[in-house]
Amino acid sequence: MRTAYTGCDIIDGTGKRFRGFLTVEDGRIASIGEGELPESTGAAERRDLTGKTVLPGFIDCHVHLRNDGIADPRAQAAADTDAVATLRSARNARRTLEAGITTIRDCGSRGGIDFSLRAAAAQGLCETPRMMLSGLMICMTGGHGYTLGVEADGPDALRRAARAQIKAGADNVKLIASGGILSPGSEIGAPQFTVEEMTAAVEEAHAAGKTACAHAHGTRAIKNAVRAGVDSVEHGYLIDDEGIELMIERGTYLVATSSAVRNVVRHGTAAGIRPHVVAKAEAAIEQHVEGFKRAYKAGVRMAMGTDSGVPFTDHGNNLDELVYLVEMGVPPMEAITIATLNSACLLKMDDRIGSLEAGKRADFVVVDGDPVADIAILQDRSRILEVVLDGRTMVSRQAA
Ligand SMILES: [Zn+2]
Repeated sequence: MRTAYTGCDIIDGTGKRFRGFLTVEDGRIASIGEGELPESTGAAERRDLTGKTVLPGFIDCHVHLRNDGIADPRAQAAADTDAVATLRSARNARRTLEAGITTIRDCGSRGGIDFSLRAAAAQGLCETPRMMLSGLMICMTGGHGYTLGVEADGPDALRRAARAQIKAGADNVKLIASGGILSPGSEIGAPQFTVEEMTAAVEEAHAAGKTACAHAHGTRAIKNAVRAGVDSVEHGYLIDDEGIELMIERGTYLVATSSAVRNVVRHGTAAGIRPHVVAKAEAAIEQHVEGFKRAYKAGVRMAMGTDSGVPFTDHGNNLDELVYLVEMGVPPMEAITIATLNSACLLKMDDRIGSLEAGKRADFVVVDGDPVADIAILQDRSRILEVVLDGRTMVSRQAA
């Protein structure tokens, strides 16, 4: 059955916008165009979306469904059994979908629960965005995130760890290339893993047709990860000019996760966040904003990620990140492209998703108002009127 959506403002994900229509059949976009729906279009159902904006489904390239964005997610992770964390992940996935995110990349789960969740969703047991998964994060012995990840040292061990995640079903290999904000006792600037170690894991990912990304804050960690060939640097808070040049040369994406650092600084110890976490975020935030601005101006490729599941970056608030991108100088239309087509490119899924084009999967969001005129509209879930995934309406709200 073909459904036609007419009279809407369409932002197609490539930077173009026009008033027009799209038709959907068998989960795909059958046609899209400017102006009136052609008479020849045999559409069994017609939906008039006059006054609404239709955008591609948004893509968040960095979430952790296993945790809620509460003050101390590490304590929650320690208390949860895998079974509880699976149910938590299912709820968080649904919240993410309700915010207009139709594809996520989970950047580190536990106990195989991300793969179980995808299997459960495929059987209709729960509703989730389309999920690209990493399995366990791979870190060095005692490295950032070791309580939840898998430890490996030396190129052979990294190669094996990457293969194990891919064997379990990973679409992406997540490496920890530096210390982090949440782990006690690690400096975020400190490099972890050598170039040789990461290269082995990246080779395995790419040989299997998967992607690889690296959590990297410090200047040296960023360069190590880029030299190892990762597809994206996550966070990159302390990036310098040499790192920027290297990323441009190699075509590496930056997934800035501005939400993560801002929310820790905004809520602080008063909200129950551990003091060492707040201190590290406060020390990094200015460099993050400055570094992002320089990287963006220089032309580093950008994809959208939030790190949802870290303190006060909760699932369902993902599109706050677009507001932060705009605050840091990205024009609203480009922020939308970053969170749609660019992110699909990073995930190597731009042949299927990321923009509204005939033949692609019918993943789109109907928004009340014009997010280019006011990007903050996207933060208001009551204005995300409809979320369509693979042609199926997953979320439907009435305009206020
Ligand atoms: Zn993360």
